[in-house]
Amino acid sequence: MAFPIKVCVVCSEEFELRPNKTGFANRCPSCSEPESDGPAAEPAMSAFDRKAEAEANEARRKAIRDLLYRGDC
Ligand SMILES: [Zn+2]
Repeated sequence: MAFPIKVCVVCSEEFELRPNKTGFANRCPSCSEPESDGPAAEPAMSAFDRKAEAEANEARRKAIRDLLYRGDC
């Protein structure tokens, strides 16, 4: 049983257009696969980490303030 031979519009490779082929009819199976390189996911910062960082910033700010106001005698 022969399938019609098509030329992939992406890579110009010939491929058999099988009835059960998924994706585009004018793309070879490998070019029909969904793009795997999506937008890079940012490293998830948990709410706990964010709170800890905020507290660390607050502590740093307080320490600097203490240094500044303690200096004037
Ligand atoms: Zn292709």
